[in-house]
Amino acid sequence: MPTPQRPRPRPGELTFAAPRGASLPPRHLADLTPAERGEAVAELGEKPFRARQLSRHYFARLTDDPAAFTDIPAATRGQLADRLLPRLMTVVRHASCDEGATRKTLWRLHDGTLVESVLMRYPDRVTMCVSSQAGCGMNCPFCATGQAGLDRNLSAAEIVHQIVDGARALRDGELPGGPARLSNVVFMGMGEPLANYTRVVGAIRRLTDAAPDGLGLSQRGVTVSTVGLVPAMRRLAAEGLACRLAVSLHAPDDELRDTLVPVNTRWPVREVLDAAWAYADASGRRISIEYALIRDVNDQAWRADRLGRLVRGRGAHVNLIPLNPTPGSKWTASRPEDERAFVAALQAHGVPVTVRDTRGQEIDGACGQLAASAR
Ligand code: SAH
Repeated sequence: MPTPQRPRPRPGELTFAAPRGASLPPRHLADLTPAERGEAVAELGEKPFRARQLSRHYFARLTDDPAAFTDIPAATRGQLADRLLPRLMTVVRHASCDEGATRKTLWRLHDGTLVESVLMRYPDRVTMCVSSQAGCGMNCPFCATGQAGLDRNLSAAEIVHQIVDGARALRDGELPGGPARLSNVVFMGMGEPLANYTRVVGAIRRLTDAAPDGLGLSQRGVTVSTVGLVPAMRRLAAEGLACRLAVSLHAPDDELRDTLVPVNTRWPVREVLDAAWAYADASGRRISIEYALIRDVNDQAWRADRLGRLVRGRGAHVNLIPLNPTPGSKWTASRPEDERAFVAALQAHGVPVTVRDTRGQEIDGACGQLAASAR
C-alpha cells in the first residue's frame, strides 16, 4: 500500500487529528479508570474483583504475563489478558550511553508506528522521558521530531506502558548501579502532550494513582512540557494536579518566537505566560521556562534581559538547553561566552536559571533529537 503524503502543517495551524490513517491500539487496562476496569471485567462475565487483581499484576508487579497471574483460575487468565492486557508495543532496540546510565528505547506499536523513550539515571533520581504522540504536528524548525510531522496520538496505555516497562527494567537491575525505583516522568519525548490532552491526563492519573489502581508515582515528579497551547494549559490548571508545567518559550519576543515555535502565531508570548502563571497559582508549582540556546538566533544578551523582565517575580525557573544539533540543521549551540552572558543577564533579574545537561546526545536521545526510524 502506498504511504500517503503527510500534510505539512502551516505555521500556527494545529494538527490534532491523525493525518496518516494510523490507528489507535486495542483497549488496555491502562486506558481505563478503576471503575471502568470493573465494568470491563464484568462484561467478560468475570467477577469485578478480577479487575483489581489484574491492576495489581500490571501496576504493582509490573507484569502482563498471564502465566504469572496465579491468583486467577488458569482457564480465565488468557481471556482476561487478551482482552485487557493486549501487547501494545515491542522493543525494536535499546541504545545506551553515559556508561549505561542513559538508555533510549525504540518501540514499535501495533500498527508499525515507531516511538522512543529515554531512561536517565542520576545519583539521586531516575527520570523517564516519554513520548505522547508518534511524531509531532507543532513543526518547530530546530526539533528533529517536528521535521517529520505527526503520525498519530498515542493511547493512554501506550504512554503508560513506556513507563511501566522502564520501572520494570529498573527494578530488575537492567541499568548499571543495581535495582532502582523510577522517581520522575517528563513528557519531553516525541509529541506535544497538550495536543493529546485527554489521553495524557489519563496517563498521568494511571501513573500517579496509588497502587494497585496506578503506579503510585508522585504528581510532583511528573512534568508536562508544552509549546504553549493556551486553552489546554488553562484546562490542565483546573484538573487539580500538582504536576510541574514546563513551557517551551525559546524567545521572549513574538517576532522570533513566531519562527521558532510556529504555534506562537495563534497564542503569543503574553498569552502563553499568562496561562503559565495561572497554572502556577492553581497548582502551587513553580513554572519551568525552557529555552534552547541557538547560536546567534536567540542567545543575545538583550533577549536574556527581555526574558528576565517577563519572568521575574513569578517564582519561575529558566532551564537553558544548549541546542542539540539535528540532521541537516544550519543551527548550532551557543558559544560558551554567550551562554555565560545569557545566564548572568537572567540572574541580574533574580531569576533562577540552570543549564540542562545534554544527556543522550551521542545516541540521538537528547532533547529534540527523538525521530524514530528503524534505520
Ligand atoms: N512538545 C513539547 C515537548 C517536547 S520536547 C514541547 O515543545 O515542550 C522537550 C523540550 O526540548 C522542548 O522545550 C523543546 O523545545 C526542546 N527541544 C526540541 N528540539 C531541541 C533541540 N534540537 N535542542 C534542544 N532542545 C530542543
